[in-house]
Amino acid sequence: MVVKSEEGRELRSFRFKDEDESQEVRAVERRILLETLANQLPPGAVHFSSKLANIERTENGEIMLELVDGTRLFTKILIGCDGIRSSVAKWMGFSEPRYVGHCAFRGLGFYPEGQPFEPKVNYIYGRGLRAGYVPVSPTKVYWFICFNRPSPGPKISDSFVLKNQAKELVRNWPSDLMKIIDLTPDDTIIRTPLVDRWLWPAISPAASDGQVVLVGDAWHPMTPNLGQGACCALEDAVVLARKLANAIKSEAESVEGALRSYGTERWPRVFPLTIRANVVGSALQWENPVVCSLRNNLIIPKLVRLGPLLEHTNFECKSL
Ligand SMILES: Cc1cc2nc3c(=O)[nH]c(=O)nc-3n(C[C@H](O)[C@H](O)[C@H](O)COP(=O)(O)OP(=O)(O)OC[C@H]3O[C@@H](n4cnc5c(N)ncnc54)[C@H](O)[C@@H]3O)c2cc1C
Repeated sequence: MVVKSEEGRELRSFRFKDEDESQEVRAVERRILLETLANQLPPGAVHFSSKLANIERTENGEIMLELVDGTRLFTKILIGCDGIRSSVAKWMGFSEPRYVGHCAFRGLGFYPEGQPFEPKVNYIYGRGLRAGYVPVSPTKVYWFICFNRPSPGPKISDSFVLKNQAKELVRNWPSDLMKIIDLTPDDTIIRTPLVDRWLWPAISPAASDGQVVLVGDAWHPMTPNLGQGACCALEDAVVLARKLANAIKSEAESVEGALRSYGTERWPRVFPLTIRANVVGSALQWENPVVCSLRNNLIIPKLVRLGPLLEHTNFECKSL
């Protein structure tokens, strides 16, 4: 990983393995991850473009899902993994996720002849503004820009406007970033308000209610400052699958009990991470010039010990 200042001065460069033997970074394009997971399922198991419109509990205890095209599905178990604006979470009584005061642009730069970068995560820290990029394939480079904004503002879907806004933010920054943004196809650039939801014990609803359960961002939306949202969603899936399989195999354990046990096991993992991601994000979005200078000249190069900071990525999911 290389960390630079907005003028392009290198503040720190390190290999994850040198900081902590157990660490490595893998950058995966979302589409590839989804296709890889979907390909493990029997053909036809996934119905795409099926937008959920309504949920109801029926008199015989099943869950009825109504899609926008009017199709009705009846199910014994409902796993809500429908992201930060989850309809299932809303139905279970969860509050809307809270905007944390910064937004992110994201995109995938495309180099048809092959991208020129070393396999490194690159970070650039400015004042109230930070950016990064990392190659995700021989031809694609993922980039992001995170910027302060008092309110999320209107949703913008015009990619020309989005690209110009992103470039304007980092106009005088190292030119690599600008080139990657220029090479970003319109359909891969998005702007997202960053949100989270703190799952306070005794205040937030539980992860499950009867045979309905939440997974991933639907349950614990967290800001991306630790790079753990999708990782935690995958961990949730592993733990939940194991609990459900045990309950279905054994007469002694109920499905409802298995879902409750999943929530109890996962909460101590996801609640502190959500708070930590929020605190780290606030610190990284500092605007004060004195604080930013201290960060660039003292904290990042000399004081931060990376090993303990990366401990949160260690999750033992045992053999799958
Ligand atoms: C800027 C940024 C950078 C990030 N970087 C990282 C990172 O480096 N590492 C990491 O681990 N995580 C990262 N994350 C977080 C990660 O993207 C999320 O945590 C992850 O995508 C959550 O997965 P999910 O399956 O729970 O939800 P999603 O990926 O949001 O999937 C939800 C799915 O539900 C569908 N859906 C929603 N509503 C409905 C409906 N009504 N009917 C039917 N379908 C519906 C959606 O279309 C979508 O397909 C980042 C997030 C952001 C914003």
